[in-house]
Amino acid sequence: MTATLHGTAAAGSASSLRLLRDILEEQFAVQTNRLTELVLCGELPRLGGYDPRTLAALTRETRIGVAAAADALRRMSQNTYGTCERCRQAIPLGRLHAYPEARYCTPCHQVSPS
Ligand SMILES: [Zn+2]
Repeated sequence: MTATLHGTAAAGSASSLRLLRDILEEQFAVQTNRLTELVLCGELPRLGGYDPRTLAALTRETRIGVAAAADALRRMSQNTYGTCERCRQAIPLGRLHAYPEARYCTPCHQVSPS
């Protein structure tokens, strides 16, 4: 892994990137397990106690979470993580810590949320 974070202190970049990767890998694992549970509930009599609309909404949200974590990990492997996909400027580290899967900086997210 040679990905770097733009616009951050060099000394903190590598450890910040490692931390963010750990968070994303954990998010991917947790969301994948959750998705498996929800799919299994969908196959149970009476949907494992879930309201059908609630189960559908949770499944949809969890799929989005799995995809977002996987996409962020892919961007890390391609050394594009931390760069806004709209303006190509560095996404501030504080935003990445708050939203590790962020694809846009805050101003661009407000224009074209994902
Ligand atoms: Zn931007």
